[in-house]
Amino acid sequence: MNTSPLLQCNDVRKAFPKPDGAELLVLEGMNLELREGQIVGLLGRSGSGKSTLLRLIAGLAEPTAGHLRYLGQPICGPAPGIAMVFQSFALFPWLTVFENVALGLEAQRMPRADIRKRSLAAIDLIGLDGFESAYPRELSGGMRQRVGFARALVVHPNILLMDEPFSALDVLTAETLRTDFLDLWGEGRMPIKGVILVTHNIEEAVLMCDRILVFGSNPGRILSEIKVSLPQPRNRLEPNFRELVERIYVEMTARPQGGASARQERFPGLGIGSQLPQVSSNLLAGLMETVAAAPFNGTADLPKIASDLQMEIDELFPVAETLQMLRFAELEGGDLKLTEEGLAFAHAALDERKRIFSRHLLTYVPLAAHIRRVLDERASHSARKSRFIDELEDFMSEEAADQTLRAVLRWARYAEAFAYDDENAMFSLENPT
Ligand code: ADP
Ligand code: MG
Repeated sequence: MNTSPLLQCNDVRKAFPKPDGAELLVLEGMNLELREGQIVGLLGRSGSGKSTLLRLIAGLAEPTAGHLRYLGQPICGPAPGIAMVFQSFALFPWLTVFENVALGLEAQRMPRADIRKRSLAAIDLIGLDGFESAYPRELSGGMRQRVGFARALVVHPNILLMDEPFSALDVLTAETLRTDFLDLWGEGRMPIKGVILVTHNIEEAVLMCDRILVFGSNPGRILSEIKVSLPQPRNRLEPNFRELVERIYVEMTARPQGGASARQERFPGLGIGSQLPQVSSNLLAGLMETVAAAPFNGTADLPKIASDLQMEIDELFPVAETLQMLRFAELEGGDLKLTEEGLAFAHAALDERKRIFSRHLLTYVPLAAHIRRVLDERASHSARKSRFIDELEDFMSEEAADQTLRAVLRWARYAEAFAYDDENAMFSLENPT
């Protein structure tokens, strides 16, 4: 028996060139091993490099440094033993389910009868029996995703890579497909030996994986590795399950460890060239109100808020982090704790809220302060958007600069700190209302 791991990544690093010639570091110090019989989860927020790592493993891109090995051999180009399932599948609309699945085997010179047999077996296995001659448009989203699974399984890969395969489905369809997948896996009925599952859904990772690598961002790296030894089938409501979910929230909100600077990082400082997330003032106010009120009374457990408000981590974390950036909350140990000002905001009436928000925006978001200063200093109290875009482009792409300006503008409008006229692309001090 071959005892090499199915897959090994050693010290993998990936950087992309930026327009200005500098490099964008996306993955650093990636070490990972997949052994037979394992489902390994890559869990992290959007932008933490999960898909990039999957593309490296699939042989669709090359690392900037480090090594990737499949069955002990360096990966160079797509390996026949590694197949991928994506969030949503590009099925060919003019081909039937059978033809879409069989397509996976066309590249391998195989007798037609074998192609037929294998394709029908994959279709049957994944629960599409009877739909062989249906066209994609006749299928529901869940069924189409099953075709995607069948197309990956039909090649009998050793490793199945899954990139957020359930995230485009509605809640119930996703859960059914997860359960079916785990049943087939548990019964050893799928022609695969190991799985890597990319997800941004904490519960999904705990439900499905034997081991979870928690990713951090900027650059993407592994923050921690969590072993899940709960027996399958797992129950989301069980205390041990909840405890793991809680622990992962704690990991994902942990501040970077470090000597003297650790204290300052309670509120990570921003530069003028920091990218800002798109978070509406409504969401910020709403979260502060929720946490200020009973039963939280100022401090809330993030997993609890996520489930109460039905927010995914990619929605909740940006809001929580924006509150932290504005010093309306502290984020630690999986808890969100409102600061005194955050509580004051939550209990204030609209006018007072705007005043508090404006003060924090202009104090803690350097870009907002900068725009305001420029407008204050000019006799016209106005300035072109292009001027700020140019400044931001020293730090980020044009698209990111545009989004960042949009983000700061949304907050400034709420705070009545400054305004913007879309028609002539000018910032001004005039209050639009
Ligand atoms: P995730 O899957 O965790 O959401 P990705 O791997 O898609 O993250 O992206 C990680 C980062 O790498 C993002 O900032 C993204 O913009 C950047 N990135 C991904 N692919 C490229 C590319 N081909 N060129 C430049 N930047 C890229
Ligand atoms: Mg991705």
